Amino acid sequence: MPKYDPKSLKAEEFINHEEILATLKYADAHKNDAALIDEILEKARPQKTATGCVCRGLTHREASVLLACELPDKIKKMYDIAEEIKLAFYGNRIVIFAPLYLSNYCVNGCLYCPYHLKNKTIPRKKLTQEEVRAEVIALQDMGHKRLAIEAGEDPVNNPIEYILECIKTIYSVHHKNGDIRRVNVNIAATTVENYRKLKEAGIGTYILFQETYHKESYERLHPTGPKHNYAYHTEAMDRAMEGGIDDVGLGVLFGLELYRYEFAGLLMHAEHLEAVHGVGPHTISVPRVKRADDIDPDEFDNGISDEIFEKLTACIRIAVPYTGMIVSTRETEQVRREMLRLGISQVSGGSRTSVGGYTTEERPHDTEQFDVSDQRSLDEVVRWLMENGHIPSFCTACYREGRTGDRFMSLCKSGQILNCCHPNALMTLAEYLVDYAEPETKKIGFKMIEEELAKIPNEKVRTIARENIEAIKSSNRRDFRF
Ligand code: SAM
Repeated sequence: MPKYDPKSLKAEEFINHEEILATLKYADAHKNDAALIDEILEKARPQKTATGCVCRGLTHREASVLLACELPDKIKKMYDIAEEIKLAFYGNRIVIFAPLYLSNYCVNGCLYCPYHLKNKTIPRKKLTQEEVRAEVIALQDMGHKRLAIEAGEDPVNNPIEYILECIKTIYSVHHKNGDIRRVNVNIAATTVENYRKLKEAGIGTYILFQETYHKESYERLHPTGPKHNYAYHTEAMDRAMEGGIDDVGLGVLFGLELYRYEFAGLLMHAEHLEAVHGVGPHTISVPRVKRADDIDPDEFDNGISDEIFEKLTACIRIAVPYTGMIVSTRETEQVRREMLRLGISQVSGGSRTSVGGYTTEERPHDTEQFDVSDQRSLDEVVRWLMENGHIPSFCTACYREGRTGDRFMSLCKSGQILNCCHPNALMTLAEYLVDYAEPETKKIGFKMIEEELAKIPNEKVRTIARENIEAIKSSNRRDFRF
C-alpha cells in the first residue's frame, strides 16, 4: 500500500488515499469540537508584523475539520477570517481574464466533457492563426489584457507546436491601444520538454485541473485516451516546475466526487508543491460540472449546493492564504458575489466557451464547452464589481517584472501590496475606462480611482500613479507599472 509522503514525486504517495480517509475520519470526529476549531481559527488568522502581516495557513487535516464543522457561530467566524485574509493580501482588487478556446479536437473520453472523442454531435473546430488574430482583436476591443487559452488534447490536431504558434500570434496582436500581456495556458498534462517550450513562449500560469483526486473515480471518469493515466496527470505540476514554470494553477471539477475528499486532496497537492519546490500553487480554480452538449450534470451524484460551495471557498482561502482563487462564468452573478467576499481574487468576464466564439455576433452554442451562467458583457461585470466595492484590475505586472513563484509570495508577505498592486490595478483600470468603457462605467470608475489613489501609503508612488493616470487620459501612452 503506498505510504503518505508529501515530498515524494509519486502521485499515490503525495495524494495518498489512506491519508485522505484518515483525514476525513479525524474531521468527522472533531467537527463540533468548539475548542479545537477555535484553536485552528486562531492559527489561521492574519498576524500583524513590523512590515505588514503574515498568515500561517492550515494543514489539510486542520482545514478539513473546518470544512466539516456544523456549528453556526464557528462557521460565521470562519467566514469573517476568510474575508479578513482576503482583504489583507488581495485588498479589494479583482483580477479579470477571459478564456480563449483554440480547438475542441480531443482524443480523450472524459465523461463530463462534451469534447470527448465519442461525441459526434458537436462540430470539431480548430482556429487558424488568422482566426486567432481575429479572436484576440475582439477580446482586446472588449478591454481584456489577460487570457487563459484552452484546448482539447489531440497530438495530431493540437500538438505543442500549434499551441506555441497560437501564443506567439496572441502576443503579436496590438489592435488600437490593445495588448494581451499575459497568456495563461490550460492544456493537457505534457512532458518536461514541452513545459520548457511553454515557459520559453512567455506563458503566465500553467493551469491543469485535477478533475478528481480520487484515483478509482478518476480512472472511471477518464476511461480512454492519454488522460486515463492518473499518475501522469497528477504529477504534471512537478514536470511543469521542472520545466521552469514557476506559477501553476490547481483545480478540482466539483460534482464528480465527494467534495470533502477533493478538498483534502487539493490541499495535499498544495503541500506537496511547497515541500518539493518551495512554492505552493499560484492559483486554485473551483469549477463545478455544468450542463453541456451531451452532458447532464445530474448524472454525477456529487453536485454541491451553493451554500457548501461558499463554505469550500472560505476554507480554501483560510488554508492557503497566498494562493489566488479563480471563479469562472460557470457560476451565476449571485454566487460570484458571495464568493468574491469569501476569497476569490480572479474572475472571468464576457466569456465565450466556444471555439471562435468572440468573433460571432450571437453566442454560439454548438462548440461550447459548457453553459455559461454569467452571460453579462465585460463592461457590465466591470461596473458590477465597482458597484460592489471591488477594483477591477487588468494588471499583469508581477509576472512581467519577474515576480513569479516565491518572489510573488514575498511581495504578498512584505506589506508592499498597497504600494505596488494597488496603483497597478488603478492604472490598468484607467486604461480600460479610457479605451473601452461605457459612459456610466467610466463615471463610476474614475470616481473610484480618485478615492482609491488616496489609500496608497507612499507619497512618491501616489504622485507617480496619479501622473500616469493623467497621461493615460490625455495620450496614447499605456502599460505603466510598478
Ligand atoms: N484538455 C485539457 C485538460 O484535459 O486538462 C484542457 C482543459 S478543458 C478545455 C478545461 C476544463 O474544463 C477541464 O479541465 C474541466 O475541468 C472543465 N470542464 C469540462 N467539462 C465541463 C463541464 N461539463 N462543466 C464544467 N466544466 C467542465
